[in-house]
Amino acid sequence: MTTASPLPSATILGYPRIGRDRELKRAVESYWKGAITTEELRQAATGLRAATRERLAGLGLSEDSSIPADFTFYDQVLAVTAALGAVPARFRDLLNAQGALDLDGYFTLARGQGDRPALEMTKWLDSNYHYLVPEIDESTPIDYVEGSLASQVVEAAQAGAGSTAAVRPVVVGPVSYLLMAKPTDEAAEGFEPLDRLPDVLHAYGHLLMDLQAAGASWVQFDEPALVADSWSVGRERVLAAVREAYAWLGAVVERPQILVVGSYGDLGDALGALAASPIEAVGLDLVAGGVPSSEDLAALEGKSVVAGVVSGRNIWRTDLSAALERLEALREALPSGTPITVATSTSLQHVPHDVERETAMDPAIRSWLAFADQKVEEVLILARGLEQGRQAIAAELDQDAELRAQRAAHPGVQRPEVRQAVASITAADRTREPYATRKAAQEARLGLPEVPTTTIGSFPQTAEIRKARAAHRRGEIDETAYQEAMRAEIASVIALQERIGLDVLVHGEAERNDMVQYFAELLEGFVTTEHGWVQSYGSRCTRPSILWGDVARPAPMTVAWSSYAQSLTDKPLKGMLTGPVTIMAWSFVRDDLPRAQVADQLGLALRAEVEDLEAAGIGVIQVDEPAIRETLPLRAEDRPDYLEWSVGSFRLATGGAAPSTQIHTHLCYSEFDVVIDAVDHLDADVTSIEASRSRMDILPAVAAHGFERQLGPGVWDIHSPRVPSAQECTELLARAVDALGAETVWANPDCGLKTRGYEETEASLVNLVQAAAHIRSQG
Ligand code: GLN
Ligand code: ZN
Repeated sequence: MTTASPLPSATILGYPRIGRDRELKRAVESYWKGAITTEELRQAATGLRAATRERLAGLGLSEDSSIPADFTFYDQVLAVTAALGAVPARFRDLLNAQGALDLDGYFTLARGQGDRPALEMTKWLDSNYHYLVPEIDESTPIDYVEGSLASQVVEAAQAGAGSTAAVRPVVVGPVSYLLMAKPTDEAAEGFEPLDRLPDVLHAYGHLLMDLQAAGASWVQFDEPALVADSWSVGRERVLAAVREAYAWLGAVVERPQILVVGSYGDLGDALGALAASPIEAVGLDLVAGGVPSSEDLAALEGKSVVAGVVSGRNIWRTDLSAALERLEALREALPSGTPITVATSTSLQHVPHDVERETAMDPAIRSWLAFADQKVEEVLILARGLEQGRQAIAAELDQDAELRAQRAAHPGVQRPEVRQAVASITAADRTREPYATRKAAQEARLGLPEVPTTTIGSFPQTAEIRKARAAHRRGEIDETAYQEAMRAEIASVIALQERIGLDVLVHGEAERNDMVQYFAELLEGFVTTEHGWVQSYGSRCTRPSILWGDVARPAPMTVAWSSYAQSLTDKPLKGMLTGPVTIMAWSFVRDDLPRAQVADQLGLALRAEVEDLEAAGIGVIQVDEPAIRETLPLRAEDRPDYLEWSVGSFRLATGGAAPSTQIHTHLCYSEFDVVIDAVDHLDADVTSIEASRSRMDILPAVAAHGFERQLGPGVWDIHSPRVPSAQECTELLARAVDALGAETVWANPDCGLKTRGYEETEASLVNLVQAAAHIRSQG
């Protein structure tokens, strides 16, 4: 092992890779389009890494190993897959003679090619970041084949030439890598990716030697999977894997010192397993998890502790005084003399770069926020406070307390009428008439055929629509011109749906830039940002809104568009809202009010919108909740409470609807079975879900659960431009009807059509309508 250089007093666990101006996105997308060469792309990445190191050093991360080296072009899990050459069979021809993937191969795994589908994407813990799921079976090649991490260490050392300290490479740890993988279809019955742990450890052993040779004195292994308890192998097997992994890696002779980080929650009993391993440091998330007990911490004797007290997940200034107290409590509870590094709770990849750039934002609100760069400063302040005592950071503590007081007193943070309205909510507000009553009333009102056809809301967002919206935002076209452009679009979408013969029409959502931001801009209590981009996956970024105050709806938000659309057709028009849980999941939510209350505030605002839609004659209203599964807590014990308030807020939003108003909801993910019970409790009349990729495998579970209301299992996978044939749709619908009965089934696509083109949209919907007609005729 390298002569022990201590961990720095302050660090961050990772930094946004995308660049302050989304340089990485631009470079990667130009490369995909063929506009720049591999060499130019690599140069862009080198420049970005250098800029990041300089920035972080400039902010004060100047000690050895305090700057993380976590760059990868697309995804941190894909980076490991590439480093191990652990490529699924359908891509194996992409491996070169050494068993490595080149950059094009790496992107091909991420994006697919021809009829070779990309690796599946799924959410990284309970964040809004998505990683690429490794596919592992008994014959997957696993070897250490590539040195991109080591080369980042060398690059930093060379660039530093004395001025920049050594960087600390960051890599997803071996246990999490395998837990987050899935077995391939070829894997034997009962095979678990974790069965390949010995091979992965062998490869990581080589990685360690490589990093050592490159000059790294520390490596950070991220093991976030240890904080979740939902893995199919069970906890005992996870703990055994931790012991095996770190006994093995700790025994590698030529290696940097090892820091293992358990972020996004509490390590629980994995802390003991790590404590017993021959590693040098353990990282704790003290924001999502608590300070472990003294008994548990006693086992860390001789190790260093990285204390994540500055949230990597939200954009609020850290309560410095509270964080310092936490650090002091930790120091108190740890064996005396244990070195403590002050850190962020997770990588900062979940937050934007720099709040100073938000010059258009209300300066009062801006002063409450900390993006990545501000969090670096907080970590440094806290490290100073921990080392030198409170008085050393008295000015910072005072300023923070002052801003906190200003925030609490700021108009809009607490609106008595909103608090009063939430306090007066009763169970009756969340309860509609019994489903049977509603069903009869809706049948009488809507007169829909069996297996009715509809879509999920959005129609293709054409270049013209985007142009009109952008011009409107920049003030280049006035309100009237904008309204006209959108109305023309609505009219054409309605005409198209009538031509195709759909039963329940939508207005197409042309006016919405995004299903959450649209509402955030119309509700009070939110601000939006100009530069607040965060990576969602690969080159895709989102710009979450910030929910800072009590939520109020100054005026109807969707009624004009929906009623205009309804005026153009005799068919029922489906109004379209985004639900409270999804609005929260895709925004940065205030940290000074329980989430349940925020959800109810949103629920009340949406409830008023539902009422206004009804008054305008809209008889079908969809409230989208695609995120209800996403924000499901990682630990089973936290779920009941979450489901209680999240389901409750949806029911509040929809609970005032008349029995004759048909309430739809939409959820789009393939793990419907995980939340089926909760979805049942939403008590929507119609629920549309993703099901086409799994060929309706989900339906027997739905039937077994006794889900008694109507269901629209998507029969067209809109995530690809492929047009499903009428026969294919018929087969899927027939399966659905078999499982659930014809009175229950709706025919619809998987999700909204905004990313599709008109050609495949029209062709697919024609086939879908034909399939429904066929099923009816068989009736
Ligand atoms: N109504 C939204 C749309 O059609 C739903 C999007 C979603 O579920 N992600 O675009
Ligand atoms: Zn969807």
